[in-house]
Amino acid sequence: MIPSVLPTYSRAPLHFVKGEGTWLIEADGRRFLDLGAGIAVNALGHAHPALVQTLTEQAQKLWHVSNLYEIPQQQALADKLVASTFADTVFFTNSGTESCELAVKMARKYWYEKGHPEKTTIITFGGSFHGRSSAGIAAAGSEKMIKGFAPLLPGFTHVGWGDHDALHAAIDETVGAILIEPVQGEGGIRPLPDQCLKGLRALCDEKGILLILDEVQCGVARTGRLFAHEWTGVTPDIMMVAKGIGGGFPLGAVLATEEAASGMTAGTHGSTYGGNPLACAVGCAVMDIVSTPEFLETVNARAGFLRQKLEGLVAAHPDVFEGMRGVGLMIGLKCKVAPADVVKAGYECGVITVPAADNVVRLLPPLNISEDEISEAVNRLDFAADAVREAQG
Ligand SMILES: *Cc1c(COP(=O)(O)O)cnc(C)c1O
Repeated sequence: MIPSVLPTYSRAPLHFVKGEGTWLIEADGRRFLDLGAGIAVNALGHAHPALVQTLTEQAQKLWHVSNLYEIPQQQALADKLVASTFADTVFFTNSGTESCELAVKMARKYWYEKGHPEKTTIITFGGSFHGRSSAGIAAAGSEKMIKGFAPLLPGFTHVGWGDHDALHAAIDETVGAILIEPVQGEGGIRPLPDQCLKGLRALCDEKGILLILDEVQCGVARTGRLFAHEWTGVTPDIMMVAKGIGGGFPLGAVLATEEAASGMTAGTHGSTYGGNPLACAVGCAVMDIVSTPEFLETVNARAGFLRQKLEGLVAAHPDVFEGMRGVGLMIGLKCKVAPADVVKAGYECGVITVPAADNVVRLLPPLNISEDEISEAVNRLDFAADAVREAQG
């Protein structure tokens, strides 16, 4: 008999009942250090006092009104995002997938209104992840995600990650946009080298193509800058955001330049829930904390501390780990064993990690994790690695 919850996930037998900062508490009382943060969602950890206060205060006033009316919280969050990024304008969604949908629609509408209705093709890259809608899986193109779901949204050309020749060969007069994650998340924490993002920007400028960045996982201070592309000095035309922006409340956004957004006039797009007062009040509270120079400095310091500890861990377990990669607090441990075994051993040792593709275990801790918590988490990973090696014999 089919379970009452559609069985699309294979879940670990863990039942968390409470969260406190970097800690998750299981129904049986066990305490886990959370280096997954709900997959880069709980940017400020669990039950952050400022977010709890904002959420409960807003909950007592007004949860939802439709986008048929002005929403001051939404206006405030848009103003904050515009003030601190390349963007001139913002549309709020409820998830990364919805942000992907709008980014695709916006790029196509842009060229349509410019008198180039043929420029519908969007180039994407191997190992990428852009959500689970028909557009999202068509964009990523991985066999595992698309199998059985045809017909998919047409108009995506896939090139291998890092395959410059294929990229150049794929550019023709139908290409309207290039879509890429500055740091691949699901693909195994693969940072795009700064030179490549600069090169992509130059290529887009030369050929008259829009650059769309998917910062759903790597954005919102995760890499130590408010958005990952800031490390390179180049900016996109359109950017997808979600995950960390709501600190755990479902919230996403598409940020764009005035030019790239010029096709999106009244009536061309909408969302019932997107940008409602509860979500945007929380989003404002997250932004107020994560966008300050002091906070970003702390993220970089903690990232340096964690990476130093992890170098020791990798060196101490050459049979289990092959190396470490990533940016800021978005770190991948490349494994010589099945990553799922490391994640499972972590559960036994009271530390939560997340598997990714390319044989990688992801570490995406709350951005405000303390040094003591980092030390304790790496100790627990050390025990987990011992257990994995013993189990291998
Ligand atoms: C998680 C993710 C998405 C999809 O976001 P959802 O909120 O799950 O719809 C899209 N792109 C990237 C890079 C992601 O990590």
